[in-house]
Amino acid sequence: MAVLITGIGELTTNDAELGKLRDAAVVVDGEKIAWVGAAADAPDSDERIDVEGRAVLPGWVDSHTHLVFAGDRTTEFEARMAGKAYSAGGIAVTVEATRAASDEQLAANLRRHVDEAAKQGTTCLETKTGYGLNVEDEVRSARIATDVADEVTFLGAHLVPPGADAESYVDLVCGDMLDAVAPLVRWADVFCETGAFDEAQSGRVLKAARERGLGLRVHGNQLGEGPGVRLAVELGAASVDHCTYLSEADVAALAASDTVATLLPACDLSTRQPLAPARRLLDAGATVALASNANPGSSYTTSMAFCVTTAVLQMRMTIEEAVWSATAGGARALRRDDVGVIRPGARADLQVLEAPSVTHLAYRPGVPLTAGVWRCGRALTSCFAAK
Ligand SMILES: [Zn+2]
Repeated sequence: MAVLITGIGELTTNDAELGKLRDAAVVVDGEKIAWVGAAADAPDSDERIDVEGRAVLPGWVDSHTHLVFAGDRTTEFEARMAGKAYSAGGIAVTVEATRAASDEQLAANLRRHVDEAAKQGTTCLETKTGYGLNVEDEVRSARIATDVADEVTFLGAHLVPPGADAESYVDLVCGDMLDAVAPLVRWADVFCETGAFDEAQSGRVLKAARERGLGLRVHGNQLGEGPGVRLAVELGAASVDHCTYLSEADVAALAASDTVATLLPACDLSTRQPLAPARRLLDAGATVALASNANPGSSYTTSMAFCVTTAVLQMRMTIEEAVWSATAGGARALRRDDVGVIRPGARADLQVLEAPSVTHLAYRPGVPLTAGVWRCGRALTSCFAAK
């Protein structure tokens, strides 16, 4: 069934040829976009939805979350806001709670957060394992994630579990754990950071994952300059995430590569770190994505709009750059071309704002502007009646 969405005051397509359109319309047929153009030229359709001058853009592509978890870290957050420094070790608290939770509890918690994100416009979401940290709990986390998320990443190398020896644990990750999890996931990731995994250990994990056919992602340069970005670029990772502390060599390496720099502003704020140097990356020619890093410790938000607002107001990205990075940039970080874009043939993932333009995402910070969300051609939330 073809549905015409018309009366679009401003249509952000992220398509090089279509660009930004005024007085536009989109035809959704089944799960895909069938037509994009001027409202006056729109073809006949079975149903018609008039959004009365509002802005339409692709649904958010959140390329970095950790939502297979149980438990709560409010106390740690309170301590941090009272002046205590963030460290990677807090992850262990969530590991304990996740191991103790049932499959049903983990699945329900994941579903609740994915639904929360969808209501705010997120239509494609990546999530990771990494709170199991043993073969059994990593496998079960991956299995639960694949039922719900668009993209799943193995992050067995999130933290050395308390009491374990780092080298022996890396052996386990590179061996039995990857053997068991690799068939369930598309990506592997490593937390390359002081207090987590060093360069040699991170390199071993990434190479072992690549040998099993997985795409690579890296958590790097979050708490200080380090080898994460260099390693990600050398090994051809799709994305290196955080990038809060970058040397000139890191920026140059990213600009010269296909590796996306994924910035996580909500995490930088929640850990009282400086915001990532988006302007340096963009001015050098690197590809930038914005993601939520939704997780119970360092960034407990599913709001991509908050990330976009922060990127514009505080990281000096333009509205267009920030919106692109949170949609097409996320798709690039996941090496996908069917999401984050509104053009014929793309997945019908789009959101309507309660505003005439995407500028309002930064102009009206904190105001919920989601008026309608379609994912795979299906209305998830909409205040518009079809006629
Ligand atoms: Zn993360």
